[in-house]
Amino acid sequence: MYVTHYYISTFYQRLGGNHLKLIKLCQHIFLTLLIALSSTNLSAQDMVQATLDDTTFHWFSSEGQDIRIYYQQDSFAHRHRQMLLRSANSAVKEASGYLGIAEFEKILRVFYLNSRTEMERVVGRPCTGFANWDADAVFVVVNPDWRSFEKHEITHVLTMLSWGSPAPSSSWMIEGIAIASDGWCREYSVDQIASHYLSQDMLPQLTDLFDDIRALGEVRGGMIAASLIGFIRHTYGPAALRRIWLNGTDDLSDILSVELDQLESTWHDYLRRSVTTGVPVDLDTIMESGCG
Ligand SMILES: [Zn+2]
Repeated sequence: MYVTHYYISTFYQRLGGNHLKLIKLCQHIFLTLLIALSSTNLSAQDMVQATLDDTTFHWFSSEGQDIRIYYQQDSFAHRHRQMLLRSANSAVKEASGYLGIAEFEKILRVFYLNSRTEMERVVGRPCTGFANWDADAVFVVVNPDWRSFEKHEITHVLTMLSWGSPAPSSSWMIEGIAIASDGWCREYSVDQIASHYLSQDMLPQLTDLFDDIRALGEVRGGMIAASLIGFIRHTYGPAALRRIWLNGTDDLSDILSVELDQLESTWHDYLRRSVTTGVPVDLDTIMESGCG
């Protein structure tokens, strides 16, 4: 089995069962939902090979320093392959830097698909992004109406391969760290959206975020988690994120040497200081059309 980014609820249920190694991530609107691809009996490597062998697709590829990208003839990705290759290469370097990983020696493979329909053919779900870390591969949709989230998916691969699976109490970080690494939803930064929630008195208690992120809703939970992760990284560095990831959020206060209420108030102050106020965030459009 693997996982796809799809519905966050399934994802956390699986995490609660400690099945993380058996799943991959599939991105739906913007966020991810983890599901077990039990409908296929393919291994991670077999899934990539099956995609390459599928004659429905006509793959071309280009290789950069850390990455190989695949695209189909006459597709949007084919026409923009040079830009996408640079973008994917940069995504590996930037995501590595975000996580504090000095060097990632594998060549990651990025498959650009035209549509959710094609994604469903490949991974069994009509998501817009899919991270398959056991095969060093990600699959992303890109077309004139949807920007690809390769950096988000690559961050999933790098965290899982470099850090390993998170402690169960840190499962809220999985999506948050990928969203934070990517940094954007439509034209808004993650912190702009979190600041909007703060102004609406819609930021939850940290314990509520940690205990049940899905109860906050897919977009709200993901954006708030990402903003908090960005603040922790900004203040304490990526090594602190890694420790929380591995040791569990139960140890967060000890790792950061701060009480939760103090962390919460300094994060809120950080948002008030660093985000330009008065930027109207169109949440309705995000909820309706996603972050692409
Ligand atoms: Zn994700």
